[in-house]
Amino acid sequence: MNSNNPSRGACATAPSSLAATIDAAVAQIEPALIAWRRDLHEHPELGNREFRTSGIVAKHLAELGLDEVRTGVAHTGVVGLLKGALPGPVVALRADMDALPVEERVDLPFASKVRTQWNGEDVGVMHACGHDAHVAILMAVASVLAAARSRLQGSVKFIFQPAEELPPEGEEGGAKLMIEQGALENPVPDAIFGLHVTSRLPAGTIGYRSGPTMASADRFRINVVGRQTHGAMPWFGVDPIVTAAQVVLGLQTIVSRQVDIAQEPAVVTIGAIKGGNRENIIPDSVEMRGTIRTFDEGMRDDIHERVKGTAEAIAKAARAGCEVCIRKDYPVTVNDAQLTEAMLPTLERVAGAANVKLVPKVTGSEDFSFFQHVVPGLFFFVGVTPVAQDPRTAAPNHSPLFFVDEGGLALGVRALAHATCDFLEAPRSLG
Ligand SMILES: [Zn+2]
Ligand SMILES: [Zn+2]
Repeated sequence: MNSNNPSRGACATAPSSLAATIDAAVAQIEPALIAWRRDLHEHPELGNREFRTSGIVAKHLAELGLDEVRTGVAHTGVVGLLKGALPGPVVALRADMDALPVEERVDLPFASKVRTQWNGEDVGVMHACGHDAHVAILMAVASVLAAARSRLQGSVKFIFQPAEELPPEGEEGGAKLMIEQGALENPVPDAIFGLHVTSRLPAGTIGYRSGPTMASADRFRINVVGRQTHGAMPWFGVDPIVTAAQVVLGLQTIVSRQVDIAQEPAVVTIGAIKGGNRENIIPDSVEMRGTIRTFDEGMRDDIHERVKGTAEAIAKAARAGCEVCIRKDYPVTVNDAQLTEAMLPTLERVAGAANVKLVPKVTGSEDFSFFQHVVPGLFFFVGVTPVAQDPRTAAPNHSPLFFVDEGGLALGVRALAHATCDFLEAPRSLG
């Protein structure tokens, strides 16, 4: 807003009064926001199983009188559309709804005691990534914006997404499936915003980054096939264990010796290795599983090729067979540079400039990246570590001790609501 420009005078007063209305509405809804979050926290559901959660969301959106509420999108997803009274662009807001197979160890009256089956195993279930907070925040944003509908200059699409943490094995799900099932159509959004609560920042702060922000994440499996023999007579067989050990070390040279990490960082990790069942038998085969993280789609493809080539060449030298299967999961989360620049003043106004931090790249991944492939998107972080605690000592997202300071949640509501209104009122600033 430029108060020096008299021709913008009328516009300058309207948004500021809408901004005040939004802040008042957020303050009013904060107790409900926290109550929703606690209820969701106590009843976490895994990916593609968010039946109760999506039921609560759909009921809430319907009660707000949204113009459309679509359910069952990508299994349990919900897409709501709020048409403002005034014409204008379309903003999409996304919250992910799924929990993790983690047994909660936080001492809270509403701690999760839920157990379920996940990929054939009995597991505890916990909102260890804070998606309960995301759902509650977006429900609150829907309330606030629905109440301001008569002054909204455009439409808002609310996307409640299942299975961000990957669906169960053998199932499709998440952002990609929502897009395939039309979540970004009728109408097509002009921009999409999303947030993630993080232990790395104190409550009351926002973290952001332009360009590549979160890594691509791809799973791989390497099967080294040898020939079984007695452990005392290795020369009669082909040892897949020694070969697998060489493969593990060989793969480490891809990031340390072969790719330009001055351009973008990358990670190649082997997280599981299985072979053999007793000390004096050299087994037939060894299976390894790992993950590849990059911040550039070109480097991503290059590293895939090198992982395959390195494993195959090492196995060949040992006269073993080698099958490499790399599955592309999530692309790089890239925040649109123009959109980030355009929305930064909003985030600074909402949180206070000193509380908006440029954060380092995150080697975790997000399927929000799929939405950003279709429309310009901004994904930012909201701190939830108690102010008195050093974020470096806080249990990270995915830990059974992950803790959300609920005092930080209203900032998430304000950030999304104000970003939406500011974008709807001045989309042309994006050029
Ligand atoms: Zn997560
Ligand atoms: Zn998450």
